Amino acid sequence: MAQGRFIICFDFELAWGRFDKILSEDYLAQVRLTRKEIVPLLLTALERHRIPATWGVVGHLMLRECDGIHAELEPYRPEHFPNWFSRDTGGKDDGSSVWMCRDVVERIATCSVPQELASHSFSHVDFSHPALLRKRAAQELELARDLISEFGQEMKTHIFPRGRSGHLDVLKDAGVRVYRTFRAPGTGFKSAFGQFVTEALARTPPLVTAARDELGMLNVEGGMLFNRRGRYRSAIPVSRRVVRAIKGINAAAREGGVFLLWSHPVDFAADQKAMLRAFDEICAHAARMRDTGRLEIIPVRELA
Ligand SMILES: [Zn+2]
Repeated sequence: MAQGRFIICFDFELAWGRFDKILSEDYLAQVRLTRKEIVPLLLTALERHRIPATWGVVGHLMLRECDGIHAELEPYRPEHFPNWFSRDTGGKDDGSSVWMCRDVVERIATCSVPQELASHSFSHVDFSHPALLRKRAAQELELARDLISEFGQEMKTHIFPRGRSGHLDVLKDAGVRVYRTFRAPGTGFKSAFGQFVTEALARTPPLVTAARDELGMLNVEGGMLFNRRGRYRSAIPVSRRVVRAIKGINAAAREGGVFLLWSHPVDFAADQKAMLRAFDEICAHAARMRDTGRLEIIPVRELA
């Protein structure tokens, strides 16, 4: 039987993650806290437990400066937010930008335990949306690839923004070998409540499925989201999520499967201490399993 494997995956976006939905002062404060404190503390935890994680970084974060317009890109005009770069303030990062943070990406890339830089597109566009034309999809990936290469890494993994896939041939052309999607949890009372029950009872999370697609790339689907957002979910103590993640890790070891835990660094901001403590507990458990030969801990690219 194959050895069980564990993957930690962060979507690192700063304001790009939700600017087309919300951009309140509270949220921006959390985003700033993310670049100043949370990412460095996550790296400290990953170093302590010698865990190589995958960071799906929005490419724009890796810029040194920009004009805030990006006229060189094919337009992307989804009906809910037709002027995609209208909130991008442009200029140079003064250390508190919510649109760029090359210094933070540098810290990730130079962590003493090698971390994978993966594509999360250039500007967090939805690859399943009809407004995303093929040319713009290609530009999003080429920019991500070129920016990642500036940190000495080859882009092998693409994390679809919002988990929604599309333009697979473009991914293939850009050199992607493995991509991650997730099943949309659905909307409305029933599914939100179902998710609440699953998490409150700390039911064992499903292992990921990894299937080779018709283009030869690996489609990694599923995983456990580690955060506290949501109408009902925010009431569940973080400790339940630790129990659930540990069940997932143990299931991977037992069944020779792959368990993937994913989150956004900004999701740690509202309850920083408890979330970081919980994350450290999960890492410590995984490290013990690895050190006793029962588990491998790998970045996403090693699945390809
Ligand atoms: Zn810009």
